[in-house]
Amino acid sequence: MGTRIEPGLLYELKKYGAVGVEKCFNCGNCTAICPLTSDNYAFPRNMIRMVQIGNKEQLSQSLDPWLCYYCGDCSATCPREAEPGETMMAARRWLTAQYDWTGLASKFYTSKAWEFGSMILLGLLVVVIVALFSGPMVTEQVELNTFAPIHIVHLADWIMAGILLVFVGGNILKMYLSVMQPGKGPSIPLSVYIFEAWKPIYHGLLQKQWDVCVEEDVDNKELSQERIARITHLLLVSGYGLMLVLIIFFLQWFQTDNIYPFYHPQRWLGYYATVVLLWGAGYALWGRMKKEIQAHRFSHASDWIFPVLLLMVTLTGILQHIFRYLGMPLPTYYTYVLHLAFTAPMLILEVPFGKWAHLYYRPLAIYFQAVKEKAKEYKEAPAGALASAE
Ligand code: SF4
Ligand code: SF4
Repeated sequence: MGTRIEPGLLYELKKYGAVGVEKCFNCGNCTAICPLTSDNYAFPRNMIRMVQIGNKEQLSQSLDPWLCYYCGDCSATCPREAEPGETMMAARRWLTAQYDWTGLASKFYTSKAWEFGSMILLGLLVVVIVALFSGPMVTEQVELNTFAPIHIVHLADWIMAGILLVFVGGNILKMYLSVMQPGKGPSIPLSVYIFEAWKPIYHGLLQKQWDVCVEEDVDNKELSQERIARITHLLLVSGYGLMLVLIIFFLQWFQTDNIYPFYHPQRWLGYYATVVLLWGAGYALWGRMKKEIQAHRFSHASDWIFPVLLLMVTLTGILQHIFRYLGMPLPTYYTYVLHLAFTAPMLILEVPFGKWAHLYYRPLAIYFQAVKEKAKEYKEAPAGALASAE
């Protein structure tokens, strides 16, 4: 069966933030400079070609956009201002929408009304839920656990975790089906999947693929900025992951009316997460305003929403913490509700559909890529090697 060509793909990708891709005249400068280019593969030109000719099927199966960490060298050297780096970015958004089985990601990326409207609605829903289920507001002293009983908040956390699991699990399954095409072509032994299973964990925690992009840039004066961006990204992942684990698994320890001594780990974990989230959100927003590195020159609405939500979650968390320590009951309760109203959309909408999804799609892409390569090696190896792998 021949490949189905969809000429509208280029214009579809523009809705996801691609700029100038139609100007590409296939000179190859971007491929020459891209650190991901290999002897057998022209990065990012192959992907630009897919977009230009409208090969939707091949693009939806491609892992290329996830392997690129937007060093921006390709865009900087493009003589046509075809912005290949931004095409990669737009393709990541487009793929996020393709993997999403609910269809919501596509609406969020292509309509500001949907994106902002759903965030506001979810935030308001949280306020209504708190109004319906909260306990009395004790005003003599701060009693957060009377106002927001821990067992109810914990239940809400687990419901949220369940929703996330359904959304994210479904998306990952769809990514697997798109990329690995099970049932089509030669089957891949299960042992190959198991053998490579350490890769998504390793890359998810350490974001090592970023180094591949930055590695070649020894003479680039933007290197230090890229290094700062890389470290910031790593810290952000650690802070976000830490807060997610604390909220879902250790809420009883974390939301308490006890004021722990200054040296207590509960306080230091909270302070660590707060500092890195504040730094990460501030860095992203400042960078996008200043546009000093290639990756910040163009900003889609979704690029703003994530750091803004993160900043609001962190600031309301800090305020609530301060009010609690100062013994101010009403400001503590109100900032707590605001904190929840920003946290819910940041988790429920950003994790499965927004920029946060990069955090698991990128390491999974590295994993699938490794599985494909290993399977190819086995296929080309003598029959005995495959048999021993199985
Ligand atoms: S994107 Fe730019 S550098 Fe790359 S092949 Fe096209 S015109 Fe050349
Ligand atoms: S942004 Fe960097 S890694 Fe990504 S395609 Fe361009 S040159 Fe390659």
